[in-house]
Amino acid sequence: MTASPVSATKGRILIVGATGFIGRFVAEASLAAGRPTYVLVRPGLDCSSKTSIIEALQEKGAIVINGAINDQSLMEKLLKEHEIEVVISAVGGANILDQLSLIHAMKAVGTIKRFLPSEFGHDVDRADPVEPGLTMYKEKRSVRRCLEESAVPFTYICCNSIASWPYHDNTHPSEVLPPMDRFQIYGDGTIKAYFLAGTDIGKFTIKTVDDIRTINKSVHFRPICNYLNINELASLWEKKIGRVLPRVTISEHDLLAAAEENIIPQSIVASFTHDIFIKGCQINFAIDGPNDVEVSTLYPEESFRTIDECFNEFALKVEKDSVGHDEALKSNAVVEVLPITASA
Ligand code: NDP
Repeated sequence: MTASPVSATKGRILIVGATGFIGRFVAEASLAAGRPTYVLVRPGLDCSSKTSIIEALQEKGAIVINGAINDQSLMEKLLKEHEIEVVISAVGGANILDQLSLIHAMKAVGTIKRFLPSEFGHDVDRADPVEPGLTMYKEKRSVRRCLEESAVPFTYICCNSIASWPYHDNTHPSEVLPPMDRFQIYGDGTIKAYFLAGTDIGKFTIKTVDDIRTINKSVHFRPICNYLNINELASLWEKKIGRVLPRVTISEHDLLAAAEENIIPQSIVASFTHDIFIKGCQINFAIDGPNDVEVSTLYPEESFRTIDECFNEFALKVEKDSVGHDEALKSNAVVEVLPITASA
């Protein structure tokens, strides 16, 4: 009998950044997998949407711990006190270097079996975007080097793009519907990329945390069902909405100019868009190095949410919005008719 690569133990997971875009998917997946899930929440959470995210996670069983990862001594205390075995960080681009204190805390505690730093994008040692995206990658690289030196076991999640229309000026495009007026096509629109549903990013991230095949490895997300270029993405969306939309070319020069403007975060997104759809940073290297593994090869029995399914969901939202709009028009009509009736 061959030994299962996945450990049977279900150690405690601490998720940093659960109120954020990626971190929430990871926290939801950890809870769905039945893992004891702790979420680190920064003190002074005063935003109601974030409070409701935390409450929703608590309802599903998450345990809230208050603190910030840049407070090393507090983190040492919390990791020990709550007997945390796995730490997953999904801090945003502005806080990447905060993870250095967390790594020092994990090293001092000495009991962490796996750390997943905030990656969730490209392989930052291979991709080479223009500024200002490059600065973020340099920070992610320095976190990698610090972690490798610390001897805390790690996994790098290189999950490529979020399944949605890849707007070049929006940080969280999966929260925005694909275009309804015209497509902006980057270059000639033929460079392919991988598009992953947020729920799958969460699900497969959690699968890696106690899989011995992913210790000290980069896990690349390259599901063939979601391998498309932007022309194909546009055609798929046209099928869903039953209309053909005009296509406008955004040239390499346009993207570089948007990056050069250095408006944060939009220019960072423009530099990544240039790297993906002009330079082909997701596909211009083979993942055959000793430290590379591919997620659909690791878990061949698991299916991925297809981009087709994700676009169906967007199309449903469009339909709902237009029904809502019609209803609003009708009720406005009633409101307008009523005074006339009354005065009559
Ligand atoms: P968000 O900005 O949405 O969320 C960041 C989270 O980190 C928040 O919960 C924030 O808490 C928390 N946080 C920040 N600093 C600290 C700290 N010092 N201590 C504790 N918590 C902290 O991040 P994103 O989800 O956008 O980004 C997460 C990662 O995913 C990044 O590495 C990013 O590059 C990547 N990414 C990848 C995408 C893709 O398409 N592949 C798309 C978007 C992001 P608080 O609520 O208190 O602010």
